[in-house]
Parts: sequence; C-alpha cells; structure tokens
Amino acid sequence: METIKYRNYILRNFTDLPQISSLTQEEQEAIRVVGQVLPFKANNYVVEQLIDWNNVPNDPIFTLTFPRKEMLSRKNYNEVKSLLDKGDEAALKQKVYDIRMKLNPNPAGQEKNIPMVDGIKLHGMQHKYRETVLFFPSQGQTCHAYCTFCFRWPQFSGMNELKFAMKEADLLHRYLLKHPKVTDVLFTGGDPLTAKASIMAAYIEPLLTKEFDHIKNIRIGTKTLSYWPYRFLTDKDADDLLMLFEKVQKAGKHLAFQAHFNHPAELSTDVVKQAIERIRNTGAQIRTQSPLLRHINDDPKIWANMWKEQVRLGLIPYYMFVARDTGSKEFFDVPLEKAWDIFRKAYRSVSGVSRTVRGPSMSAGPGKVQVLGVTEVHGEKVFVLRFIQCRNPKLIDIPFFAKYDKKATWFDELVPAFGEKEFFFQKDNLLGKNGRDTDFIWE
Ligand SMILES: *Cc1c(COP(=O)(O)O)cnc(C)c1O
Ligand code: SF4
Repeated sequence: METIKYRNYILRNFTDLPQISSLTQEEQEAIRVVGQVLPFKANNYVVEQLIDWNNVPNDPIFTLTFPRKEMLSRKNYNEVKSLLDKGDEAALKQKVYDIRMKLNPNPAGQEKNIPMVDGIKLHGMQHKYRETVLFFPSQGQTCHAYCTFCFRWPQFSGMNELKFAMKEADLLHRYLLKHPKVTDVLFTGGDPLTAKASIMAAYIEPLLTKEFDHIKNIRIGTKTLSYWPYRFLTDKDADDLLMLFEKVQKAGKHLAFQAHFNHPAELSTDVVKQAIERIRNTGAQIRTQSPLLRHINDDPKIWANMWKEQVRLGLIPYYMFVARDTGSKEFFDVPLEKAWDIFRKAYRSVSGVSRTVRGPSMSAGPGKVQVLGVTEVHGEKVFVLRFIQCRNPKLIDIPFFAKYDKKATWFDELVPAFGEKEFFFQKDNLLGKNGRDTDFIWE
C-alpha cells in the first residue's frame, strides 16, 4: 500500500486547503473568528476522503471539524471579530480567555477525580469508577483533528493548568500496585495513539507482568481509526503498534479498543476497513462510542445504519452519549427526551447483535446517567434514569425519577420528581463526604 503523507491544517494555514475556494467569504471568516476560541485542526485524510465538499457547510464531517459561525453566540462572535480586525492582540487574547472560561472548560468536576499516590497528586490520571483508571499520556494530548464539540478542548488551546498530563509511567504503575480492585486502565487524551508505539509500549508492557495480575483490560480510547486510519497501515511504527496489541492478548489480557465514530461516513473508506481488519487480527476488540449531536447525527436512521455497519465490520456498539455541557454545546445539544426518542427508534430497528449499545448516557458529576425513558407515574410525567457507572458502585442500576422537563438537555437541569427535595443519591453522603470520593475506590 502506498504511504500517505500526513498533512495538518490549522488556523494559520487553513487557507492553503485546495477546497477552501468552495467556501463563501463568510464561512472562511467564521473559521478564522470561531477558531480563535475553539481550536481547529484537520488533516488531509479528513479533508480529502471524509468530507463531501459539495455538501458544505452542512456536511456532517465538515461540521465536526471546521468551526462554524453559530458555534459562538452572536455577541461573542462580533467581539472576537472586531478585535481581530483591529489587530489588538492583547485585548483579543484576554477576550478569548474570558469567553473560554464561560464555556465551562472543565465539565463534571473532573478535577475531583485526580488521585494521589505517596502524597503526590497525579495530574495525568483520573480515577472515578472503582474498576477503571484513566491515564492521559502526556505525549498523546493532541488529536488528528479537533472535534468542534469536544470537552477536551482546553488541552488543545494552551490552557496548560487544565492539561491532565503526566510524563512518568512510574507513577501510574505505583498507583495501580496500590489499587488491587482496579481491573481496567483506559488510555485517553487527546488521542493516545498520536503518541509513538514505543511510548505506548513503555506504559503498557510493564502492565503485562505478573505484578499486575489484577489488570485484566487495557483500553485505548481513540479517534485515530476514524481520522487517520493510516496509523495502523502505513505510518512508520504501524507494525510496532499492532505488535503491542498482540502482546497484550498473548499475555492473557484483553486489548479493548474504544473507537470514536460519530457518523457512518467515517466507516465508508477502504482504508478504514483495512485498518479495522488489521486491528481485529491482533485479537483486540473494537468497541464504538459517540455523542448524539445536532447537525451531525440527530436522526435514528443515521445511528441504526452506523451500528449495523459497525457490526458487519466486526465492531461492537458500546455507548451513545449526550453532548457534554461545554464548549459549543448550544450548537450541538439535543433535549433529553428527543435523545431518548432517537436512541429508542434506532435501537428498535436493529437486531439484537447491535443492541450491545447503551444510551443516551450523560457523564455527569456523580456518574454516567442513562435516560431510560419518559413515562407517567400517577399522572406525573417523569424521566426514568439509572446510573450505568457511579462513584459509589452500590448505586448502579437503581432506577430513579426526575421531573419531566421538555427543554432539559443535561443532568444538572433536572430536579427530583414527585415534589421530593433530593435525589436518592444526595442523601446520607451516598456519594462520599465532599462529593470527592476516594472512599469507594478503597472499599
Ligand atoms: C466512561 C468512563 C469510564 C469507563 O466506563 P465504562 O462504563 O467502564 O466504559 C471510566 N472513567 C471515567 C471517568 C469515565 O467517564
Ligand atoms: S478525537 Fe476525541 S479527544 Fe480528540 S478532539 Fe475529537 S472528541 Fe476530542
């Protein structure tokens, strides 16, 4: 196979894109203006093979990757534009910072999940659910393209104090040795597969020794399969990476590849199919997840087609998320009732082999909350919810109720049903004393 050279487009050089002439002046301006606040990056695979330029600006992959005017409020847009036009760099920098801070750069209280070992705060890790530790390799804090909806955007925009990164594999390993209940290590980012195979090996290979018998699943959350499948085919260390996956299997552990796919278009190229085949041949399983996003995939047919195609290619549908309350959420959000309706219509139109997927799920402060549905109890319309994951594992899978709210798009907007003052998990310190909870992790 011919090696394809990786080419990046960022704010500074996006006008070099051959396809840029198919955009109106206003659309180009929007990239320049919105791109100051929400980071922008694309690559030649996304631009040449995934985006249908005849369908721009409404093409789903274009909207996923390129900033659009509606992603900022009109007021913020005009403020940024006028400072850009004036060339007032200091004022622009301050304005951009202020806007970003208002866009909830750190949703769901992630700083609460940062663990400690021997008195050291581990900024490159999060430990929220007892069995799974998230690890953010510092070499994988970027992505092949930046999704405009992404909650990791502060990491890409130089807001360093929010960058959860850690250089030393050593601290990860020390932490895991002290936590025998942890079975899963989930490498995440950014995109951990933007790091070299040798770096990933330095983190992963020690986990294959006898000392780490309790670690059963090595998980990698990545968009690379969708945005740069050549990573598994023709990139210089593609074979090394696949060999590493194979080593994990040979050591008797499961390599769980968590792939982000937002739209069936991402599954349509020959390259992605070849990459899937190579990964599956190592014994790894590929599970898939995506948020539900207005303008991208807010249609049950899109999801049903995506899940069916994934299953056909040997992938396992895993999560449908509700778009997080951060960044350009207002452009992408879908009310919870509609989200459930889309999920249900898609779910019921596929066969059982695709119904491994769970959703719509909100990654909120206490845990992953699934909207099971809208129903009526004694004349009161309610949302039925449950924790798929929770800081306190004892609370998982218990149905609970919130007052129906036609407009609600996120968990924080919900209140308990039946006139109650608190949700069941808010009683008796069920989530731990400060809501920051390492108690359950130790139990
Ligand atoms: C989603 C998530 C996980 C993984 O949860 P699974 O249900 O096991 O896939 C782990 N930690 C955090 C903080 C998460 O948000
Ligand atoms: S690939 Fe994932 S982490 Fe990277 S920008 Fe997209 S959603 Fe965010």
